[in-house]
Amino acid sequence: MALRRRTGRAAATMRAMALDPDIPAAAPRLLRTEEELARLPASERVRYRLVQAQQRFHANDNIAAYVHAGELDEIKAEVAAKLHEVLHALVIDTESDHNTQETAQRVARMYVDEVFRGRYQAMPSVTEFPNAERLNELMIVGPIRVRSACSHHMCPIFGKVWIGILPNEHSNLIGLSKYARITDWIMSRPQIQEEAVTMLANELQRRVRPDGLAIVMEADHFCMHWRGVKDHESAMVNSVMRGAFLKDANLRREFLALLARRKD
Ligand SMILES: [Zn+2]
Repeated sequence: MALRRRTGRAAATMRAMALDPDIPAAAPRLLRTEEELARLPASERVRYRLVQAQQRFHANDNIAAYVHAGELDEIKAEVAAKLHEVLHALVIDTESDHNTQETAQRVARMYVDEVFRGRYQAMPSVTEFPNAERLNELMIVGPIRVRSACSHHMCPIFGKVWIGILPNEHSNLIGLSKYARITDWIMSRPQIQEEAVTMLANELQRRVRPDGLAIVMEADHFCMHWRGVKDHESAMVNSVMRGAFLKDANLRREFLALLARRKD
């Protein structure tokens, strides 16, 4: 009798442990076969590859190398289904309301194909050519119109970017329009302005290898307008200065003076 009671208690304790959120469940198996992967939703397959490769996949990271052919369409369908759930949770009658019947699909396409495409599409191809003329004068590109979204609220960010480059004879030069394409690729992701500017600087530094690099971004954050809390503080200016722009105050002044003149 006593023995039976003890057995019963042990079983109850084990059941309690299984439900206790503080006790971790068995670790997921790390290796999956291709067949197992094929049964998962596309987003899980891509996530699995990223984790295996120990790649970061924050909102502003590009994950194009981990998305296989055809998977973007699957991801769009997944996003649409989840957005449909969001509308449902907001108690919107998407069945009778003709305005919201296709909203989930529209927003999914807008996210994946347009406003966040910088996460899913590979870096635009950019031809670099050697600095044959040995240009070593300050060069300013801008204003480049920028459209992005804040990763805190997924609200639009509209702004302008100016890029200052001081090339040396070893720099690789890229065509003027390519600065805009690289900027657009970095900005078409949910972003934080400070990080976006740093990402852009890293990309240009890696490609152009100039003596000096300066970037200024001025942008309007619509989460401030839309939510109407701090309207007067909605414009934000960020800058990154590297190499010669850090060391040489005259060069920095020249860049900022030219930029101020080109702003109007
Ligand atoms: Zn925001």
